[in-house]
Formats: sequence, C-alpha cells, structure tokens
Amino acid sequence: MSSADDDDGLRPATRLVRAGRDKSITGPFVNPPVIHASTVLFDSSDAMVDRRQRYTYGRRGTPTSEALESAISGMEGAAGTVLCPSGLAAASLALLAMVNAGENVLMVDCVYGPVRHFADTVLKRLGVSTTYFDPGIGGGIADLFGESTSLVYLETPGSLTFEMQDMATIAAVAHERYALVIADNTWATPLFFRPLDHGADLSLMAGTKYLGGHSDVNIGTVAAGPRAWPRLKETHGTMGLAVGPDDIYLALRGLRTLGVRLERQMASGLEVATWLSTRPEVTRVLHPALPGDPGHALWQRDMTGASGLFGIVLGGWTELEAKAFVDGLHLFGIGASWGGFESLAILARVDHVRSAVPWRAEGPLVRLHIGLEDPVDLIADLDRAFAAVAAMRAAQ
Ligand SMILES: *Cc1c(COP(=O)(O)O)cnc(C)c1O
Repeated sequence: MSSADDDDGLRPATRLVRAGRDKSITGPFVNPPVIHASTVLFDSSDAMVDRRQRYTYGRRGTPTSEALESAISGMEGAAGTVLCPSGLAAASLALLAMVNAGENVLMVDCVYGPVRHFADTVLKRLGVSTTYFDPGIGGGIADLFGESTSLVYLETPGSLTFEMQDMATIAAVAHERYALVIADNTWATPLFFRPLDHGADLSLMAGTKYLGGHSDVNIGTVAAGPRAWPRLKETHGTMGLAVGPDDIYLALRGLRTLGVRLERQMASGLEVATWLSTRPEVTRVLHPALPGDPGHALWQRDMTGASGLFGIVLGGWTELEAKAFVDGLHLFGIGASWGGFESLAILARVDHVRSAVPWRAEGPLVRLHIGLEDPVDLIADLDRAFAAVAAMRAAQ
C-alpha cells in the first residue's frame, strides 16, 4: 500500500479505506497485526546502543500504533499524530506540550468541561493562566492578547452548546502574535473538517466518539502541523503515554466505517432536528448545519458535513419536565459520551461551565445524539415523550 502522501488527491471516503495500511507491515493481510509488546529484542548489545532498528520498545511504537497514527495524519493533513488513552488525555497533552510556566492561554468559553477543569487546576498550579472568551469573538480576540499569551484553544462547534468559531480569523490573529492554536475536532472529525487547513497548529479528537463509533473504547488522537509536531512528539514520549493495542485496533476498525456512519448520522440528525424545529415545545434547535442557526454561515464556509449531535432548548419548561421528557424516551439511552451507533439524550447543565459570557436560554437544554436507528422510530419516540410531558402538565 502506498503512503498517505500518494493518497492526498483521493476523496476522503477512499482515504478512509486505504489509510494506515502499510504493506511492509501487513504483508498479504488486509489489516495490521494487533501487537502486544513491551520488550523489543535487538540482535546484539551494539544494536541496542545504536537503536537504528524501526521498533525499540512497546511504549515507543508498534506496527499497530503506527497504522492508526499514519491514518489519522493522512486524514488531518498533519506532519504527525500521537495516540492518547482518552480524548481528555489528548487535550491535556496538547496543552502541556505547548505552554510554559508564566504564559497565558486563551480558551473558548464553550470548551468541553473537563478541559476547563484541567486548565483551572493543573495549568493554574503550573503558573499558566487561562482567559475564557466568547465563542463569537472572531477578530475581536486581538484585544485579549497579552505579553504572555502563547496559545489559543478552540472547540468548534462546542459539544454542549454548539457555537461555531471563526477559526481562520482567530488563527491569523494568533499567528501574528506568535501564538499557536489548538482545535478540538471531535464533533466534525477530519472527515468533515480539517483544522490544520484553517490555521490550527494542532487538531485533537476524542476517538472515543465517532472514530471508535461503538461506545466500547476510550482513545484520543493529537495531530500536529510542522511547527508543533516536534514538541508534541517529544512531550508525548516523555510523559510515557501509550495506548493498548486492542483499543488501537478498535479505533482502526471504526475508522473504516466512519464515512458511512457519519453520512447516515448526519442525515438522520438533520431529519430529527428539522422535525424538532417545527415543534411548539422547542424554542431553539442548536445545530450549525440548520439554516437559521447563528453559526450556520461559518459551518457552511468551513465544514463539509455535520455529525449527529445537537441540542434543543425547551422554552419555559421546568427542569422537572425536561427530566421527565428525557426519562420518558425509550430509544435514547441516558449517558455520557456520544458518537456510537446508538442514540443518547442528556439534560445538559451549562451554567457551571461558562465564565466569559453567561449561557442564556429560554429553558432547559437537552442534548441529543442521533445513532443509526431509523429516524422515523426516533421521531415517534420523541413525539411520545412530548405527549407524556403534556399529559403530566394537564394532570397538575
Ligand atoms: C468526549 C470528549 C472529550 C473527551 O474524550 P474522552 O475519551 O471521554 O476523555 C474531549 N472533547 C470533546 C469535544 C468530547 O466530546
């Protein structure tokens, strides 16, 4: 199989099939081997000293880890990729690799909650300050840059409130000031959006979500452009981050069907979201691919598709009613994470994860993840749950 470089001209769906399949490793087999390894043997003491062989220690890379890394590098258009044991580890590694004590990070206010927690605890302890900013800031971010600002962290759209960010504009401002840009690309995946093509220096993903796609693995990826790659690689190795081969294999297996799953989940998601937008109970649907969403123009400019994760605001509802709605769904599981084959619903709590701009909504926010079920059944399920809440209200 030829290298990812030779595949640059191919369409993404074709690249998903070919990515990371190095014939010098797979031999006649379609898939790479799942290599369980710590010790790697050398032919002699001298060979161990000069370390010129391709593999030297399990933690430092195996044919299994290389297959996924090179596949992600190809998809993201990156100089290199490292793997982490979770999406959160990918985010914290990207931050730790790029900042120094005394510096300042500008972080989007709709960032994934646990990343905010990492910044407010670990980074703070290391003498790194974090300033949160309005996702809609655009070029206005220039006003937030101080002497010590070295990094901007984006997540477009935010995975709870779905605000799009103008990555190209923000990255241009950052680069003028010698700052780097990290983007969490979990929502769109590199199939629909390649942050490195829009000015980001690092693109990370919770592979736990769409890459794995089956709710059975935690894994993270960080892909870097040429400027950030040497330091990312060095820090990843120094911190001893390594992912078990079975988990890497699950992600590789998920990668092959990412295209068809996402196309279907995008279509079903839009069908359900469009239906919800006609319901009197729903004040707003938070989905950048829907015309009328505040982020729609940016989504249209930057992305070639959408995932099946979005939110609805239930105007005037009490929290109790929103809970009854979620609990009344039969086809939607209640639980963290998303990106699997099954639909999920959660009552999202936003207030405690905002600090730059308060979250203003007309009522509770429910986040839906649309899986691979038939959307007709999902809509009927949502319809039933709305009716149950209406009956509950009528009985009061
Ligand atoms: C889930 C998620 C993460 C963290 O991934 P884990 O594997 O659960 O640690 C990071 N960023 C976003 C946007 C996510 O949705």
